[in-house]
Parts: sequence; structure tokens; C-alpha cells
Amino acid sequence: MEKCTNLAEMKEWCRAIPKIELHAHLNGCIRDSTLLELAKLLGEKGVIIFADVEHVIRKCGRSLTECFQLFDLFHILATDHETISRITKEVVEDFAAEEVVYLELRTTPKNNEAKGMTKRSYMKAVINGLRSVDTVDASFINLNGKTESFCEPMQKSCTTCMEKKKIYVRLLLSIDRRETTAAAMETVCLALEMREFGVVGIDLSGNPVVGEWDTFLPALKYAKEQGLPVTLHCGEVSNKMEIQAMLNFSPDRIGHACFLDEDDWEKARLSQIPVEICLTSNLRTQRLSSIHVHHFANLYNANHPLVLCTDDTGLFSTSLSNEYYLAAETFGLDKKDMLQLGANAIEFVFADSEVKKAIREIFRAFERRLTDEFPSWKS
Ligand code: 5GP
Repeated sequence: MEKCTNLAEMKEWCRAIPKIELHAHLNGCIRDSTLLELAKLLGEKGVIIFADVEHVIRKCGRSLTECFQLFDLFHILATDHETISRITKEVVEDFAAEEVVYLELRTTPKNNEAKGMTKRSYMKAVINGLRSVDTVDASFINLNGKTESFCEPMQKSCTTCMEKKKIYVRLLLSIDRRETTAAAMETVCLALEMREFGVVGIDLSGNPVVGEWDTFLPALKYAKEQGLPVTLHCGEVSNKMEIQAMLNFSPDRIGHACFLDEDDWEKARLSQIPVEICLTSNLRTQRLSSIHVHHFANLYNANHPLVLCTDDTGLFSTSLSNEYYLAAETFGLDKKDMLQLGANAIEFVFADSEVKKAIREIFRAFERRLTDEFPSWKS
């Protein structure tokens, strides 16, 4: 397979191939247009001064601190149930539009007394958002443990659902590093309760310089004991003790992993912990001096399990196709490499084997179509 020298062609290829997104934060993926609309509305109601936030929303290249300031703004803009449902719907539709066939969307369940919001009602709003997706066929899990999608039951004669793009959506509940042990435990219990609604795991995220590992450990241990997979934001900042403690915990996946030392990598290698790589996010938050020194290259060359992800499409103005293109262009990967990289991620999803089988079939069908159209594809 010759290297693809035509960048436009590679860009189009990265958009067209089926992809799997395993690290995307709901509120970090809000469309800019929606954020501006919400900010304008709140400005008109006198809740915020629109002119004060407009430039913040429009700014590119934010520091890590500015990103977390912006999250505080997001949380003011998106505090009611209706908005949470709307954002969920839009985010799912946006990922599906760029051929993401499996999305593990993570979000931090929030209490907001003023809005009558509890962590449970927040999650209900997310589920309602999934139910309201209508431009694509979003498949998640309903109360009976059966797959629920907009067009269920799937009828062969239903031309609408035959024409719609299919996206499998599963949810991860995030524990924010500002939370207490009790609050973290509440999130894990909620996740266990909501397994039937497509919740498949737990994430630890939030400002990496806030909070202590020991605070979250009891809840994370409990999740593990209950068979709920755990992914951790690990090594976003240099914190040797925490990185070691996290790796000793043996999480099912880790995100970012920018500040692991050689002995940490040795441990991650031995246990083959899949790494969620977020290139644009790491660059924008200045975790690396240049993309050329990103650990993606070492991991890829060592065949370490990894998956390309976006982190926050809205916050970092990116898309999964863009992350694939960035990797291909920077590290000299060809079309076949990119398709294989995407397919490898099937093994790291937290959904059950039936879903994995269905996604595998989507990738196979894509390859079959290619082989039919371009018989030289395999050679
Ligand atoms: P939400 O959980 O509210 O749907 O999504 C936004 C939240 O995800 C942020 O407030 C933050 O806690 C978390 N988050 C988003 N991006 C990052 C990131 O790059 N690093 C960390 N540690 N947390 C993040």
C-alpha cells in the first residue's frame, strides 16, 4: 500500500471511514452555535453579560486553566434539563454525521438545586436527548435490556430507518475531581442503576491539579467490584505518585497519559492498558511542545493498544475525522493504517460482545464495499 501523498484525499478518507469515539465529554462537545445561542438568551434574561463571554467562547488556543474556566461557563449555560437533552441530541448527531459508528459519551451527573436537578434527573435528561435523536438511528439500551433505537423495532420495510446512519451510543458517568468520596460513590451507584440505559462505565476527570486520588479510590474500587469498567484521566500533569497509584489500580483504559515516565510505560505495557489519545486537546492545553514529540508515535510503533479520540470537539474545535487526519499527516500513516487503527478500537469498547460483533460487521461491510469497487485495495 503506497503512502497517501494527496492530503485532500487523506482528509476525505479520514472522514469517510467508520470510526469509534471512546473519549468525548458531553459538555465539551457543545456546538459553538448552540453555546452562543444559549449565552445570548441568558444575556437577554440578565443572568450573564453576553459581551463578557462572547470572546471567551470564540477564543482558540486556550490554556488548561482557561479550559476549566470555560467549563464553569458551560455549566452556567447548560443547567436545565431541556438544554442537556438538546445538547445530547446534537452531539450524537454530529458524531454520526462524520461516520462515528460507536460513541462512548461521558458526562458528569450534576446536582443543581435551583433548577430542581439531581444527578438522576440530569441523567434522565441525557437519556431523553438520546431518545429524541431523529436524524440518525441512535441505538442504546432500554429498560428491558433490549437495544432501543429511534426506529425500533427495525423493520426491513421502514425506508426511513434503512436510510439513516446507525450509531451505537453508550454512556460513561464521570466523577469530577472536585467531588467528595460520598459524591463519587453516588455517581457509581447511579451508573450501576442505569446500566439498563446504556451506561457502561465510569470515568475520573476534572481539573487534574484538584483533588486527591485517595478521595475517589473507594468509589472506583466499588465500581470495579461490581464489574463496571473504569477509565481514568491519567498523567495529564506531572504527578508521579498519582500516576503510579492509578496504574496499580489497573484501570480498563487511561486517557491522555502525557506525563508517564519510562517505568510507568513499562507497567502500562505489561498490563496492555489501552490509551485514549487526544492529540489536539494535548496540544491546545500545552501538555507538549509539539505534536512531533507526542507519545502516539512510540505507542503506535510498539503496537500498544490505543484509540484516537477528540476529548472535547467544541472546546478544541475538532472532530474525530480531524484527529485521524492529524495522526495520518504527522506520523506518515496510510489509508489502510487508519482504517486498521479505527477497527482496533473495537476491542477496547466497554459495550458487550453483541455490540462489538455488530461494529465489527460495519467495518467488514465497509472493507467489502472497497474490495468490490477497488479490487487492488487489499494488495
Ligand atoms: P461534562 O462532564 O460536564 O459533560 O463535560 C465537561 C467536563 O468534563 C469538564 O467540566 C471536566 O470536568 C471534564 N473534562 C473535559 N475535558 C477534560 C480534559 O481534557 N481533562 C480533564 N481532566 N477533564 C476534562
